[in-house]
Amino acid sequence: MIVGICGAGVMGRGIAVSSLLAGHSVAITDVNAGLLSECTAWIGKQLDTAVTKKKINEEQATAFRTRVSTGTDFNLLATAQVVVEAVVERPDVKVAVLTQLESIMSSDAILTTNTSSISIASLAKHLSRPELFAGLHFFNPAHIMKLVEVISAPRTAESTIAFCVALANGLGKSPVVARDVPGFIVNRVARNFYNEAQRIVMEGGATFDQVDMSVKGLGFKMGPFELMNLIGVETNLDVTTSQWQQFYHEPRFQPSLLQKQYVDAGLRFGDVSE
Ligand code: NAD
Repeated sequence: MIVGICGAGVMGRGIAVSSLLAGHSVAITDVNAGLLSECTAWIGKQLDTAVTKKKINEEQATAFRTRVSTGTDFNLLATAQVVVEAVVERPDVKVAVLTQLESIMSSDAILTTNTSSISIASLAKHLSRPELFAGLHFFNPAHIMKLVEVISAPRTAESTIAFCVALANGLGKSPVVARDVPGFIVNRVARNFYNEAQRIVMEGGATFDQVDMSVKGLGFKMGPFELMNLIGVETNLDVTTSQWQQFYHEPRFQPSLLQKQYVDAGLRFGDVSE
């Protein structure tokens, strides 16, 4: 099967590796040609690592490399049976991209979005085939993390959800079907993890490192600041903002000024002392 991916950033490239390792071909588009080259190189590196770890052999890695096509022209995705949209977490950009994708995809292909927080129904209403559209929310790093949230909107067909669950299972993932509520399941829970950590630092209660070390001491693999850096401080802020807006500015989801300042400065947490 051809898996189409729109957006060659952090998530798009991880989803591509997962798809290749499961035996699919991938077609990847992005507006940024430079990022597509970076993406191809990154995928190659992950395949090399898979060979080193003896998950695949050299012949398979060579074959997988030939199954990757990339380009800035969305028509590259026209023959994909399923497309995962993984562009920036901005509703206006997603609507523009999704409507364009739908217009070039075959009439029975499944369109999905990797959005972390944007209502699937609010995106679906712009599409002419909303029954073939669902949320397919991978976690970072997408080629490693097992969890995938499959999100159904009111007009999503049962067969679309069944397809997404089967696709995720075929990628070796553990799909969970979630309702179309702000933040779905994991990002709703995780907002408190990120927001409270920032409040502690803003109050002068602890440093980034102290918070991360304490949380890891409890058994978490990563602390909140390490995780926000991995996700992308800006992407994480977009998700918090989106969820806060959808909850009518509920105070406990309010984005922090600290994070806004780091995003405005183009910094990751810990780049300068707090
Ligand atoms: P990213 O910033 O790394 O990549 C986004 C990509 O979208 C970039 O390569 C950019 O060039 C491309 N893009 C922007 N506008 C475009 C357009 N009009 N057409 C085509 N490509 C365009 O972001 P990311 O972290 O990969 O996030 C992508 C999506 O996945 C977001 O919806 C995000 O919320 C979600 N997500 C992110 C994470 C994470 O940890 N980063 C985890 C789960 C879900």
